[in-house]
Amino acid sequence: MTIETKNPETLVLHAGYRSDPETGAVAVPIYQTTSYQFDSAEHAANLFALKQFGNIYTRIMNPTTAVLEERMTALEGGAASLAVSSGQAASTLAIQNVAKAGDNIVSSTELYGGTYNLFANTLPNMGIEVRFVDPSDPENFRRATDENTKAYYAETLPNPRLRVFPIKDVATIGNEVGVPLIMDNTAAPIICRPIEHGAHIVVYSTTKYIGGHGTSIGGMIIDAGNFDWETNSDRFPLLTQPDPSYHGAVWTEAVKPLGPIAYIIRARVVLLRDLGSAMSPMNAFQFIQGMETLPLRMREHCRNAIAVAEFLSKHPLVDTVTHPSQAQGKERDIADTYLKGGYGGLLGFELKGGKEAGIKFIDSLKMFFHVANIGDARSLAIHPGSTTHSQLNAKEQALTGISDSYVRLSIGIEHIDDILADLSQALEASNS
Ligand code: PLP
Repeated sequence: MTIETKNPETLVLHAGYRSDPETGAVAVPIYQTTSYQFDSAEHAANLFALKQFGNIYTRIMNPTTAVLEERMTALEGGAASLAVSSGQAASTLAIQNVAKAGDNIVSSTELYGGTYNLFANTLPNMGIEVRFVDPSDPENFRRATDENTKAYYAETLPNPRLRVFPIKDVATIGNEVGVPLIMDNTAAPIICRPIEHGAHIVVYSTTKYIGGHGTSIGGMIIDAGNFDWETNSDRFPLLTQPDPSYHGAVWTEAVKPLGPIAYIIRARVVLLRDLGSAMSPMNAFQFIQGMETLPLRMREHCRNAIAVAEFLSKHPLVDTVTHPSQAQGKERDIADTYLKGGYGGLLGFELKGGKEAGIKFIDSLKMFFHVANIGDARSLAIHPGSTTHSQLNAKEQALTGISDSYVRLSIGIEHIDDILADLSQALEASNS
């Protein structure tokens, strides 16, 4: 039985699974198995030839992970999804699925530090050039495009600068020139659905808000099914030309009867098969648990973050506050276009006392955890300049939007009075 709804609060509890047909179990069982008994030699051969869909080996698919994939697909309004071992694996595979050595992608400069490193160093080492452009003018994406451009890449709510990305404008350019837009929506689940604004592929670090409890590393790739690979077939030979690693299958042809899912099927049966960054079933279970309360948690994260932004913006020791709720003019208009029901739980600020005060502030926090993570139910803080973004040089740090005195907060779902009390005492201590 499927529940017909578009409401996220219901989808996260019901999409993709009702109860276990064998036992009636209502919670999704953890299928902690590597492999699956074939019915017969013919059955096995059909599964390997993709003539029939079914479980073969947990590196490629798993019934627990499949429920998580279906729930994420339903939540995002996509066609199909693929769970992987981390957010980094999700962005890497999302690109490798269309780009090979000699190709390029165009990316926003406003990125998580790990993604920036992947794009500035590791992908170029593999022969994939990354062209960084300022996202404040969407036309920069078109200008950087040539016949070898295979994807556009950006984050919905990129920290640390937290300027919302103009998804629709860049997706429209992508449709015009034949390049898909990959959106990392890690910081904005529930409050933004990038596919509704035209994004073609969505990636997540499920490690963050999806899991929500800081227990598990994971990633997700969601295929919107809205990109026309065939019309742009010269640009995408990996999807539209015979694949020698799979008996000459042409992915856009082979999976047509199943729907517009050529991209995600190739990512699963070629890239996961060969590169092996699969999500463990135990972690899939943790993410399923996390998802059940995701809409509730996001509401509280957003509500608390607005209150913190207001508090900090009036505090005499604080120089600047970065949160979409404090943005003005065009930046605020873009935030209001794409974010619904809140402005996210991430927030940044600079102390008047500079780097020294920033470090004192972090060391004085009592309830906030000092960790390299975001999206936990607990409140978290970090000084990006000396940690997450420390591998970037000063120019690169400035490009991604951080200064020496910048402190990043990931506002949790504790009572707002306790959050403000901890911030208040740490601010006082930073000035002593
Ligand atoms: N994307 C964003 C926006 C992130 O913040 C992170 C991690 O902090 C990642 C991707 C990478 O995710 P993971 O740590 O799960 O590999």
